[in-house]
Amino acid sequence: MNQTKTPLVELQGISRIYETDDVETHALSDVALRIDEGEFVSIEGPSGSGKTTLLSILGLLDVPTAGRYQLAGEAVEGFDAAARARLRNQRIGFIFQTFNLIGDLDVIENVSLPLSYRGVGRKERRERARAALARVKMSHREHHFPGQLSGGQQQRVAVARAIAGEPALLLADEPTGSLDTNNGDAVMDLLEEIHAAGATICMVTHNPAYALRANRAVKLLDGRVVAEQAAA
Ligand code: ADP
Ligand code: MG
Repeated sequence: MNQTKTPLVELQGISRIYETDDVETHALSDVALRIDEGEFVSIEGPSGSGKTTLLSILGLLDVPTAGRYQLAGEAVEGFDAAARARLRNQRIGFIFQTFNLIGDLDVIENVSLPLSYRGVGRKERRERARAALARVKMSHREHHFPGQLSGGQQQRVAVARAIAGEPALLLADEPTGSLDTNNGDAVMDLLEEIHAAGATICMVTHNPAYALRANRAVKLLDGRVVAEQAAA
């Protein structure tokens, strides 16, 4: 890896403390992480180890209590909510464990929606959504509603929604966690294909076999990075 190139993501000394009535939870402590453009990084760790918190910070949904976050060379840790939303919409794609499709929008509308927030016109939205649906092999279900699809199909639509805007960084939080083995394998194959086509991916997973399919596996324990290993 070329160390002189600006990384897509660089976290330094990131901590996140949740303050509730009388307890402080140290969800992340002094986390450092670098992700280069084109990498596929997996994040593993037991429940409560800070994986979702880390992804939320990477995806500009949450802000660290302390530390530095540079996204494509720009310091973003001090951005306000509006600036974060704008940048998130332009540069980040999310895939969630529970798909999070909108139930009363059909498939093509679900995939088009994030593009409308970016001001992409209707015709181009449709074209890009159709291209994304073709990539996940869901073109034949354009006008179905999420409730009419299997879990595996819903997740493929969610992947299409995440990639339709060609985000700089694709974040996936246990994308196979609600799927059976066959559908989980299919979603992993899809993420590998998308990575091979040039995408940068950071994926949380509980599945050690899936973690090893990334270029690099990062392990979290109690909010700290305890190991980083290059995959075989
Ligand atoms: P993981 O995704 O690895 O299961 P999380 O990032 O969701 O872990 O949570 C890390 C820790 O932070 C846990 O102890 C969790 O209970 C706590 N936590 C997460 N979100 C909140 C919140 N909004 N308020 C208070 N504590 C939280
Ligand atoms: Mg989680």
